[in-house]
Amino acid sequence: MSNISEILNQSSFSRSDLGQLLRCEGEDMLCLFEQGRRIKEIYTGNKVYFRGLIEFSNICVKDCFYCGIRRSNRSVQRYNLTDHEILEAARFADECKFGSIVLQSGENNSVAFADRITSLIRQIKEQSNGRLGITLSVGEQSEPVYRQWFEAGAHRYLLRIETTNQTLFHKIHPQNQLHDFNRRLDCLHALRAIGYQTGTGVMIGLPFQTMDDLAQDLLFFEQFGIDMVGMGPYLEHSKTPLYKFRNELLPIQKRFELALKMIATLRILMKDINIAAATALQAIDPMGREKGIKVGANIIMPNITPGLYRNDYLLYENKPCVDEEPAQCKGCLDARIAMADGEIGYGEWGDSLHFKARTTK
Ligand code: SAH
Repeated sequence: MSNISEILNQSSFSRSDLGQLLRCEGEDMLCLFEQGRRIKEIYTGNKVYFRGLIEFSNICVKDCFYCGIRRSNRSVQRYNLTDHEILEAARFADECKFGSIVLQSGENNSVAFADRITSLIRQIKEQSNGRLGITLSVGEQSEPVYRQWFEAGAHRYLLRIETTNQTLFHKIHPQNQLHDFNRRLDCLHALRAIGYQTGTGVMIGLPFQTMDDLAQDLLFFEQFGIDMVGMGPYLEHSKTPLYKFRNELLPIQKRFELALKMIATLRILMKDINIAAATALQAIDPMGREKGIKVGANIIMPNITPGLYRNDYLLYENKPCVDEEPAQCKGCLDARIAMADGEIGYGEWGDSLHFKARTTK
């Protein structure tokens, strides 16, 4: 029996075990993928849940060195959907029985922004008769603002820590108060204390990132007891400062493989959480998200941003599906999930089982 099979049979994992799983290749890698798939089926079943993703604005106060919509990128055409457009996108998700939506945007810390989100949450709940679950992904905010949105009806929040290696965190962000590792961590704690199903994640294959860093990221998810994870490959964007390190990155296929290994390893480590197959996987491989589902992910976030704006929410280049309208996505997704041996949980919220377990103790 190989060392990898031995590790796969353990019930707990050290940083070095996780590092070995992330480094495995060939037959060993296939064993890891198979184990991810098996554990997912046992613990969460083969259902895949949809979250209709509405990227409602690319206006951002931050200047992250990796991100295409960073404040300093002057070549981005900035947009902000109207309330009507957002409500119509939410109605579309409800009609498609997607179960829930994710409202995502660049970061904005104004009172007007906070109040607008509160009002949108209320309206979406009302127009769907409480059917649609609402996940927010609008960055770092104050505790009272997070609470205001929770009380209005949002029940899940995604805030990627991006990397848990603080030295690396500093290399990929400007050094100022707006980009502070501890503040981001505090936000995650606040979200959980308020009662949100809390999600985080990291980028995989960042310049200067090691396998050991990624193993540590996985341990962080476990120690924090996170409910949901969304993580995907880092993809370079030519209008960002990190682009100059493009020759030092893992080759794109290796980055893709590593992202799949991260998903499978996380599934083995945290058996009952929700794991999203990130859109960035599909930017590399046309079947990327389905491959993510096959090795352990159980969530897909179909983009339901109105077609007109999709080309302006380019966190990275070569983003898939930017020329499509939302209605085109649905038929495509049905077929894709069937190919990944999954079944779609239509009309269900598909809450994190991990969250249920920790809140009903
Ligand atoms: N303003 C929100 C949403 C940010 S965009 C927030 O701060 O949480 C969502 C995610 O896209 C980011 O958290 C980051 O992990 C990812 N992302 C940004 N640039 C990327 C790139 N170049 N490659 C891959 N993922 C990227």
